[in-house]
Amino acid sequence: MSNTNGILYIVATPIGNLSDISLRALEVLSTVDVIAAEDTRNSKVLLMHHSIKTPMTAYHEHNEDKKSKLLLEKLSVGESIALISDAGTPLINDPGYSLVEQVKRAGFRVVPIPGACAIITALSASGIATDRFSFEGFLPRTSGARKTIFEMYQKRQGTLVFYESSHRIAKCMDDVAAVYEPAHKISIARELTKTYETIVTGSVEEVHQAVMSDSNMQRGEFVVLIEGFDKKQHKGDGLSEEGLAILKTLLTECSVKTAVKLAVQLTEQPKKVLYKAALELNSDD
Ligand code: SAM
Repeated sequence: MSNTNGILYIVATPIGNLSDISLRALEVLSTVDVIAAEDTRNSKVLLMHHSIKTPMTAYHEHNEDKKSKLLLEKLSVGESIALISDAGTPLINDPGYSLVEQVKRAGFRVVPIPGACAIITALSASGIATDRFSFEGFLPRTSGARKTIFEMYQKRQGTLVFYESSHRIAKCMDDVAAVYEPAHKISIARELTKTYETIVTGSVEEVHQAVMSDSNMQRGEFVVLIEGFDKKQHKGDGLSEEGLAILKTLLTECSVKTAVKLAVQLTEQPKKVLYKAALELNSDD
């Protein structure tokens, strides 16, 4: 049952450009009783920019448990709270999960106020497929662990999205180049919405080279995007490797006509392309 007293708002804030905040977010931040901020000094800049005078309290990974109790007490006496992080959407690689979980369990309303998020911002302008993607958070710190992750995910469908720090972006690109084929499509989105915003999309070889040849390309905040296995084209004939694998399996059991019919349903790839590939595969036998 929902408790109608206090409300916890999860408010997305900008990831760089201070104007990237919704009117609703500004209204909520101006009218709640308190703003729980990951770093109050950092958020002060945003609040001052928008002339918001609401008191702040610190809520970060080191005081989550203690602060959650205090915030729950505030909700129970009818106060409303806005949770914000240093940048973007709270809880997305930022603190807040424990608070949201406890607040919901206690029966209070949790209201999302959507806005900037580096993952979605990068995806929207990268030129890498967006129909399906998985966000895997920050990449591991060591080269060995990063390569293991890339090897593990290499055959995954959908675009892979990671956060990466400026300290490791060059080494990360070395590791991508060590695991993926030189022609595999990737993108790095740097300093999104900020002055030096740069989005480089191309083959592993091209993007690796772009990062290595310009030290500016190793500064700032990064999102790394790697095209999924299913989008990889099979030798220019328009069929993905996944589509080809499905078609091959079907052809071991069915006629060309049935295999193509089923493959169209399973892969959603064009019938013409599947039919041509099926004929080629059959003639290889
Ligand atoms: N909550 C944030 C969000 O909604 O995107 C993410 C917080 S996470 C602690 C910070 C990481 O997000 C950075 O290290 C970087 O990988 C990515 N990031 C945040 N802002 C970015 C920006 N303006 N450009 C590129 N990446 C950014």
